[in-house]
Amino acid sequence: MFDSIKKMFTGNEGEEPVYTGSKPDISREKSAELFEKAKAYFPGGVNSPVRAFKSVHGTPLFIQKGDGCHIWDADDNQFIDFCCSWGPLILGHNNTKVREKVTEVMQNGMSFGAPTALENELAELILKNNKFIEKIRFVSSGTEAVMSAIRLARGYTRRDKILKFEGCYHGHTDSLLVKAGSGLVTFGETSSAGVPKAFADETIVVSLNDKEALKEAFIEFKDQIAAVIIEPIPANNGLLLQEKEYLEFLRDICTKNDTLLIFDEVISGFRVGFEGAAGYYQIKPDIITYGKIIGGGLPVGCYGSSKEIMGSISPEGPVYQAGTLSGNPVAMAAGIAQLSELLRMGFYRDLNGKAEEFTDSIQRFATARNYKFKVFTIGSIFWFAFTDQEVIRKAEDIDPASMDKFKVLHRELLNRGVYLGPSGYEVGFISSAHNKIELEKAKRAIFESLDFVFSRQ
Ligand SMILES: *Cc1c(COP(=O)(O)O)cnc(C)c1O
Repeated sequence: MFDSIKKMFTGNEGEEPVYTGSKPDISREKSAELFEKAKAYFPGGVNSPVRAFKSVHGTPLFIQKGDGCHIWDADDNQFIDFCCSWGPLILGHNNTKVREKVTEVMQNGMSFGAPTALENELAELILKNNKFIEKIRFVSSGTEAVMSAIRLARGYTRRDKILKFEGCYHGHTDSLLVKAGSGLVTFGETSSAGVPKAFADETIVVSLNDKEALKEAFIEFKDQIAAVIIEPIPANNGLLLQEKEYLEFLRDICTKNDTLLIFDEVISGFRVGFEGAAGYYQIKPDIITYGKIIGGGLPVGCYGSSKEIMGSISPEGPVYQAGTLSGNPVAMAAGIAQLSELLRMGFYRDLNGKAEEFTDSIQRFATARNYKFKVFTIGSIFWFAFTDQEVIRKAEDIDPASMDKFKVLHRELLNRGVYLGPSGYEVGFISSAHNKIELEKAKRAIFESLDFVFSRQ
């Protein structure tokens, strides 16, 4: 079974074949120099593995600034950016409102380790506009939010096992760096060195979109499963859109078994709508985790649930969870400024409409030319897949060989001033700063690059 997480660690080893593109490569001299230095300081030269460009051609670009939908690298190349810091920047880079609010709050100090009014303000913005949760706790990353949500579920239910899905990513917490073993329902196998087997033994892994596997897991591990965790819009291993009816089935089977349903909305939260995937599908999970967009580009995560379940969290209850910089005022300020913009009338209608137009016309282009290429999309998230399958709902259905085409597309796009995340398993994001003119330019670059990709076979 293919495992993209592991792929991120190892990338493709060996010599890079000589590449001849449709136009000369952009200059990467300064980036290459910086990368050489970085390799002496950081494992693989990076502070997060997928940044290392292991799955695409060349070495990573070092970014020096961003503005609106653009970024500039150390060699002054300009790109239209569809990575958007992996999702947080739904308003684009260096948004004036966010920058001004952060700058203002910073004048009063960076951190106190004591409560501030800003935490209330961000919590109020979230809770007043989200009918699925009643109380939240701020943390400093998506990983931390998920880790805490898992502990909360275990503490609340007094059960140990959790169930996750192959192809969903939930950050780098031990018990979730687990992939499916063989067989329909299995204990997981660790997908990272350093994760004790005993942890993986508490994690059950099943395929997405497979009701039978779920049913079987709940029979085999009756009264043992504390929580099922899912990305309701799985967007870390391609975009594996699930049917609403399947998510409803999941909700149902959890309720029947007194198992908590956790929606990991670190990507989908505030992205497909202010209420995220829960709002999009109108399904109420028991716990929701947020990250990325919630912090406006600064490190913020949070988990939320009912008053009753959140009552288990320390100091109210027995589940311990803490953080020196949790609710940090500067990060809260960024979150407040960003989420306030999202609450403006028509924000999502405009953004999603623009995204739909963009992805539709790329799909029309590819279809007209009979290219084996699909744009999967929801809201302002898109995924380019070199496939002729109408839908892909599970990780196993992605053809690893198709990634060779992505590598070419990625390089051709960089050479035409368009930046995608450096892996074919990653989705792209459109921000409100991507205006029509820039999207038109990006489209043209994508058309030319696709023509080149498909002329090579
Ligand atoms: C990004 C992500 C995480 C991890 O968040 P970090 O802030 O990188 O720790 C967890 N879950 C999902 C669904 C994510 O997309």
